[in-house]
Order: sequence, then C-alpha cells, then structure tokens
Amino acid sequence: MSVESLELLSDVVLLMVLEHLRQDDLLACRLVSKRLGRLVLRHRVWRHRHLYLDDYRAGAVLRLAPILKSVTAAAHRTLPLITSTCAIKGLELRDEVGHIVNASNLALVIRVQESLGRLRHLVISFLNLVTGADALMRTLAVVSDLESLRIVGCVPSTTHRVVQASPSPSLKVFRCELTKDSESFVNTVLGAHAETLEDVGLCSGGYFGVGYSGESDTTARLLATMPRLQKLECEALPGLQAVAVCAALHHVTVNVPSFKQRTIEWAAELLRAGPMRSVCLNYDVFNYEVGSKLIEALGERGGSPLEFLAIIKVPQVGPLLRALPSLPALRELQLLETPQDDADELLRGLTPQVAPALRILGLTASGIIISGLTATARRRVECAHEWLHGDGVKAAVVNNPLLHTELRNTSACGDCEACMQGCHQEVMWGGDLGLFSHDLDKCPSPEDHIDTDSRRSWVQIRENVA
Ligand SMILES: [Zn+2]
Ligand SMILES: [Zn+2]
Ligand SMILES: [Zn+2]
Repeated sequence: MSVESLELLSDVVLLMVLEHLRQDDLLACRLVSKRLGRLVLRHRVWRHRHLYLDDYRAGAVLRLAPILKSVTAAAHRTLPLITSTCAIKGLELRDEVGHIVNASNLALVIRVQESLGRLRHLVISFLNLVTGADALMRTLAVVSDLESLRIVGCVPSTTHRVVQASPSPSLKVFRCELTKDSESFVNTVLGAHAETLEDVGLCSGGYFGVGYSGESDTTARLLATMPRLQKLECEALPGLQAVAVCAALHHVTVNVPSFKQRTIEWAAELLRAGPMRSVCLNYDVFNYEVGSKLIEALGERGGSPLEFLAIIKVPQVGPLLRALPSLPALRELQLLETPQDDADELLRGLTPQVAPALRILGLTASGIIISGLTATARRRVECAHEWLHGDGVKAAVVNNPLLHTELRNTSACGDCEACMQGCHQEVMWGGDLGLFSHDLDKCPSPEDHIDTDSRRSWVQIRENVA
C-alpha cells in the first residue's frame, strides 16, 4: 500500500492496523508520514504491549511509547526507566547472576513510575543479596495505587524497621516471604491494605524458604481483620487460628516446615474451624506426625465445606481414610508425592461410603523414590504400567464408578510383566493417564474428561479385565 492510499484511511482504521504491528514497524512509522507519526503515539497502540528491557529496541520504544502494559527489566540495568516518561502498568525487576544490584535505583524507578500514574502491578525478584535495601523496601511500603505486589525469592533485608505505609488501601494481591527480617515490612503492608487484600502469600517461592522464627502473632491478627481475604498461603504462624473468622476465605495453603507442637496446633485449629472450601497441605516429608495431625483436624469438623484437598507430601493413609467420611463435600483429592505402596493402600480403602462426593483423585505415579532401594525395587516402584495392572488401582476404579482417577507423569519401565505383555498400546506413557469404570454415556461429570492438555490418555477399566 502506498503512502497516498494510506492517507485515504480514517484514523480509526489506521489505529486498528497499528495495534497489530510489530514494535519494529511502529518505530519505522514515524518516518512514513507526519500523520502516522502522530497516530503511533496514541495510547491504544501501546496499551497491550510488553517490553523486555534487554531487547535492542528497548531504548527507542521507551522514548516513543506513551504507555506500556508491562516491562521486564534486569535490576542492574534500569537507567532507561529512570529517564523515560513511558507510563507502565506492570513492572518486573529481577536480578541476574553475577550482577550486584543497587536497590536504591529500583526505588527511584518505582517512584518515577508512581508519579506517571499508571503503575498497578509490581514484581521484584531477587536471588542474590542487594545493597540499598532500606530505600527499596521503604518505597515498596508507601507506593500508592498498586493492585499487586509480589516479592519473589530473597526478601532484601533492611537495617531499620519499615513502619510507614501507603495512606490509602489498594493492594489486592501481596506475596512476600515472612521472616524475622521482613516482619516489619510485611506487617506494615498487611495493616495498610487490610481492607482490600484478597490474596496473600507469605511463603518463599520454593517449598520452604527461611521461614518465620518469631513468636509474634501480629501477622495472624492482621490477616484476621481482612474482610475480602479469599486466598492465603502461609506457614503455621503463631495465632493462625484467628484467621478462621475471615468469612470470604476460600483457599488456604499451609506449610509446616519443622516440627513444633504449638505451630501444628495453630494450623490444625484453622483447618478445624475455617470456612475454606479448598486446602493444600505441605509439610516436611519426615514429619509423619505433622501430616497426621493436620489431616485429622480436617476430619474433626462436622459438616465440613471442604471440596478440594491437595497434599504435597506423602499422605498419611490411615488418618486420611479415617478423615474422608467427615468430608461429605470433598470432590477432588490431589496427592502430589505418592509412593505406589501408600497409594495402593489408599486406593483399596476408597469406597463411595468413605468418600461419597469424590469425583477426581489425582496421584503422581512416580512418587518419591525412597533412597536405598535396590535397582529392581526402584524400577518396580516407578513403573506406572505395572501399577495400572495392580489390585489397588483396579479396586478404586471399579469400586467407585463415579470416580475419575488421574495418574500424572506416568512412565513405563519396558520390561516388567505388564510391559512385556504389550497391552495398553493406546496409552502415551510419560504423559498423564485418566482411569474410570463407568460407561461414557453414564458419566456423572463429562467435563472431567476434557483434557486441559493433550498429554492425557483415558483408559476404561472393567471389573473382569486385568
Ligand atoms: Zn513396566
Ligand atoms: Zn497393560
Ligand atoms: Zn467420566
């Protein structure tokens, strides 16, 4: 199309075209005509765009674009952001291996963006220690109009307590590991945004970070004042049971990193009394007693509203089977690290009387491998095909005609008896496997068969078929 024919198009049509052009082409548009050069500065051309600051065009884009949806920048290379007037809605700043970050520069970037008026989402991601942490953490606590603030990985540790907060609540999502070091910052943010917070995560991104070693129940008391709190991920904090009064609380993830009797009681009391319909339990793999106590607490609630339960570590099968009849609404049970022997015990014990509402059972077929097993034993534990032919899986699927059992990350050894038979050719080993015994036209929840990804094979198990 020539420049002359472009001039025949209306602004509205040209803007629609510009919205879909690549950033390179937008930069080139300035050279085509004054009119295009003007149109390319409109907000709607940029409002949906993301920029990586290490992109070679980043400097030019930051000079041209009036706004951007999001920017990801290495924390040691933020100078273009300090001098830019491009207003960014979502900003992610992260450190890179081998670069020491001066966090006061990040504080400056955040202040600049705050003054430009569009900053709503902020992610700070640190793997390493930083200098200038006080300036950054103080800024994060006072920055206004944010909707989400996520501090991933190490929380920069400050030399002074952070006590001053944004005057008006705006945060809906807050994620930051609670440690003795970050306590004043976390509590200051929680207190300032108690009215608006809906999703709070106080654990590190990994399973267990530094953890909270303090004795204060301030954090739990602040959480308990949140009228909109729907989702909470935290350790078993002192006084955690107070959070049970949060009527909107829908999902709780509780991490119990170390064995502390008092800690477990706080978490157990929340599980016993809270309004949650969804719970995820994560505890130290060697703390069998912790797992049992938490699971027992779930079962001690009469008329429990629990619909979804995930257990990240090896479940204590006995307590779980005893708790299930007290969870009349439980629809989905996900066990994320399940040695097959434990899983078989659970599978043999499952009946519609034990778990009347259960429709989805998720198991990870290759669960933890207990060290010290012989090579033969390890292979036996790992072969999902052999497991599929075992009594446990068959019992659960046949005894519970309404159930869909999902085995994740299945692998087949290739030389056990089941593998040598050459059956179940239709299964894509390595992917997920869905098992059921009902006729498809009598499925109680056909939506459960719809694969979220195409790596799942479905196998119907009949009572008389091995
Ligand atoms: Zn095998
Ligand atoms: Zn087979
Ligand atoms: Zn079905």
